[in-house]
Amino acid sequence: MATNRTFTMLKPDSVEKGYIGAILEKITAAGFKIAAMKMTQMTVADAKAFYAVHSERPFFGELVEFMSSGPIVAAILEKNNAVEDFRVLIGATNPADAAEGTIRKLYASSMGENAVHGSDSDENAAIEGAFHFSGREVF
Ligand code: UDP
Ligand code: MG
Repeated sequence: MATNRTFTMLKPDSVEKGYIGAILEKITAAGFKIAAMKMTQMTVADAKAFYAVHSERPFFGELVEFMSSGPIVAAILEKNNAVEDFRVLIGATNPADAAEGTIRKLYASSMGENAVHGSDSDENAAIEGAFHFSGREVF
């Protein structure tokens, strides 16, 4: 069910720094099951489309540049209350404000390069998952 799923990306900073394994361990230890996963890289056009909701924001250009700068790990995660629980697990957007033990507190270096993406609603989780995965890639 869509209400039990969220979408995440381990952002280019996490992949570059070798944090894929550590972050996936945090995610699975928190009770999330992996329903889909791949390493991929977004083009500039992909990143603009994925983050279109932010297109008027001052940080949009930097965000698009960063998110298309290297490979990411995209995944669909399943758990009861997935969207909300995953936002708690990753912590605040700015790692300086993120709670102790959260993924962003542990692995993010700045507001822009903040280690992971997490969907903000069930509706966006479904849209974002479909952006990256075909039906045959989701289990
Ligand atoms: N971002 C940024 N500067 C800001 C706000 C956001 O660079 O002032 C980037 C950051 O990488 C963030 C992404 O844009 O994760 C999307 O922003 P959003 O407000 O949706 O934060 P999130 O949902 O990722 O916590
Ligand atoms: Mg967001």
